[in-house]
Amino acid sequence: MIDYLVIGGGIAGLAAGAGLSTLGQVTVLEAEDTLGYHTSGRSAALYEPSYGSKAVEALGHASLKGHQDAGVLSPRGVMLVAKSDQRAEFEADTVGMGMTEIDMAKAMDLCPMLDPEKVAFAAYNEASYDIDTELLMQTYAKKIRSNGGKVVTAQRVQSITKTGETWTVTTATRTFDAKNIVNAAGSWVDKVAALAGITEIGFQPKRRSMARVPAPDGMNPSAWPMIFGVEESWYMKPDAGALIVSPADATPSEPMDAWADDMDLAEGIARFEDHTTVEVDRMIANWAGLRTFSPDKTLVLGPDPLDPSFIWCAGQGGYGFTTAPAVKDFIHAIVTGTELPIDAGHAAAVLPDRYR
Ligand SMILES: Cc1cc2nc3c(=O)[nH]c(=O)nc-3n(C[C@H](O)[C@H](O)[C@H](O)COP(=O)(O)OP(=O)(O)OC[C@H]3O[C@@H](n4cnc5c(N)ncnc54)[C@H](O)[C@@H]3O)c2cc1C
Repeated sequence: MIDYLVIGGGIAGLAAGAGLSTLGQVTVLEAEDTLGYHTSGRSAALYEPSYGSKAVEALGHASLKGHQDAGVLSPRGVMLVAKSDQRAEFEADTVGMGMTEIDMAKAMDLCPMLDPEKVAFAAYNEASYDIDTELLMQTYAKKIRSNGGKVVTAQRVQSITKTGETWTVTTATRTFDAKNIVNAAGSWVDKVAALAGITEIGFQPKRRSMARVPAPDGMNPSAWPMIFGVEESWYMKPDAGALIVSPADATPSEPMDAWADDMDLAEGIARFEDHTTVEVDRMIANWAGLRTFSPDKTLVLGPDPLDPSFIWCAGQGGYGFTTAPAVKDFIHAIVTGTELPIDAGHAAAVLPDRYR
């Protein structure tokens, strides 16, 4: 009998599985042929703890040491840029993102492709890092396996029933019996809850698109910070010698294998060009992923009061990688009744109890 059957092989399921793997037999089931095929394979891979609700920020800050211990962080830094008529928005974001205003000379020094004719204000925070997301997922998968657990791909859960204390989960080819289910199915979490006869919470997947474009001629972007427009209107991040550019779209979507809309990509590139000296003449690649939010935009972590053997690890939104180490520890602690990685007020804000 499996102790914890985790549904979903993205960062949420792997973090939860790693956290539970010291407590009993864990099996992670992933529908696709590879781990991280959906949202977890499509992120901007930034550790940014000053982002999201207060409880999300608490999880982000509590994750720093776990990321450092896993050896997945490398320096990046984040810059906010604004035009001359955006002073009020700039000041609000500077505070919200824990940044310090810098002069344009310093901004140009950090990122010489900015156009001082277009950008009037800049702020900077160096305490944001690139996350090696593939390494983090593999580290958690390895931990599950080294504690005797299993991570199984190409197993899409099709039915979930409960008889007495035992959950029975079937895929096209196999049947699994488990004492507890962990719902970490990303955009599909409400669908998985419905399969299990557990009331849905009302998660909303939102599409976000990304274009990879060449770095400007003769410039090496590898040490440039990630750059955000005010009110998260667009962003750019150096990525393997090129740049990734997003319109920071958040278009409601059904759970699906998402793809980018051409108009969204064009909008992101236009906003990027509107702050820099760059003229983008071709795209190297593009993609989109679904960021899935609970109604209050805060993660949902822990046993469902309707049936405590159904554990949620859901609503990772735009912060699934930033918060993963604390999510791993939170799921372990909430199941064992041991000390939580965040304080009681923030813990109450992530428990599923708030929706029941
Ligand atoms: C463009 C973009 C940029 C982002 N940038 C950042 C960033 O910089 N920093 C950050 O921290 N976060 C970022 N995020 C958010 C982050 O990527 C997500 O929060 C995180 O990947 C969500 O992980 P997940 O495991 O919940 O979902 P997923 O990765 O989607 O995993 C869920 C898995 O469940 C599986 N599944 C679903 N139904 C079933 C079933 N019936 N049976 C078996 N398996 C099933 C799916 O196949 C899927 O693989 C970004 C997201 C996007 C889209």
